[in-house]
Order: sequence, then C-alpha cells, then structure tokens
Amino acid sequence: MARYKGPVCRLCRREGMKLFLKGAKCFTDKCPVEKRNFAPGQHGKDRRAKVVGYGLQLREKQKTKRIYFTLENQFRNYFEKAARKPGVTGELLLQQLERRLDNVIYRLGFATSRRQARQLVRHGHIDVNSRRVNIPSFQVSTGDEIQVREKARKLTVVEGASEFSSHQPVVPWLEVDRDNLKGRVLSLPKREDIATPVNEQLIVELYSK
Ligand code: SF4
Repeated sequence: MARYKGPVCRLCRREGMKLFLKGAKCFTDKCPVEKRNFAPGQHGKDRRAKVVGYGLQLREKQKTKRIYFTLENQFRNYFEKAARKPGVTGELLLQQLERRLDNVIYRLGFATSRRQARQLVRHGHIDVNSRRVNIPSFQVSTGDEIQVREKARKLTVVEGASEFSSHQPVVPWLEVDRDNLKGRVLSLPKREDIATPVNEQLIVELYSK
C-alpha cells in the first residue's frame, strides 16, 4: 500500500500549523512549527503571500489529506463517495475520514498519532468485533467493538500512548475502556463531533470545479 514516507514535520511547516503527526513531540518546544514557522525549502521564508481563491481551496484539501494521512487517490475516492450520498457532502467526507480504523485507534488514545495507529493496525494488533483487522482504512460502524490484542498490550508504544492519553477526554461518538484497551462506536460522528480544524466546504468547491 502506497504511503507518504518523507519527513512529516515538513508537512506541518508547509501548512503553517501543527497537524499533530508525531505524537508526544508535537506538544513540546521541539516541534519545528514552534521554532521555524515558515514554509520548508530554500525560499520558504519568502513565501508569505496571502493565499486566496483556488490556492486556499487547494491548501485546505492538502491539509485535511495530511491530517488523516491519506494519499490523493484515496482522498478523492472519499469525496466521490460522499458526493453520491444524500446529505451534506463536506460532512460526509469528514465522517468517512473519522471512521477509518487508524483514526479511531488514535481517537481512543491507543496511539499518540494517526501514523502510530496505522502501524498498530498494519501489524495486526487490532481486533474489530473479535476478529483481527489489518486494514487502516477499514470503516467502523455503530456498535463495533475495537480492542488492542492481548499480545500487543505490553508494547512500549501502546503503554506510552495509554499513559499519554489517560487524562484526555474521548470524543462523544466513541466509548473507551482504558483498562482493557477496548472501545465501542456509539454512533457515527456528526460535524459538531469532529474537532479537526478544516473548512470542508473549500474542499467541496475545489473538487466540484
Ligand atoms: Fe507537526 Fe508534530 Fe512535527 Fe510539530 S512535531 S511539526 S506538530 S508533526
């Protein structure tokens, strides 16, 4: 499966904001956005022009794609699926991104970043409804039970993530049992449940051209 393998902090610097792709480091003063908040590259400091119109729509799409760590084709597929369904396209797009299994693992606090969550899924450490699922893009549904498998509970990354997230509230559409590293999908996320800082309408406008 194709995935981005380059330096992730560059992605945040390009968007000019923290996208929280590296877990604990993102909350420290070692975060490059704190130290060098300008675009990466030789002319990064000079690129301060105001972005409007198409540029704004493009940046919003890139930012969202990067937050959820998806590539262009997959992201476009999410949009096309959302556009075919009845309802608000932007909200349906975000809902599909939130329902990805790697995102759910991150939201439940079993990983400190979506990248780490993706790795846990890819390595077969996650069960959905008592069956191993190793597809990060798997879409969870209402009532699904998600659990870190027995053997993975002692992994340093899982222990570290549990400690890291122990005092953080969980999103309203999920229920978490931190002691047993287990979670349940209470309902599908609505727009107000999704705190991701994106303007999805700009993405809809971009793809609707
Ligand atoms: Fe982004 Fe985290 Fe890197 Fe900061 S430390 S630039 S928030 S990935």
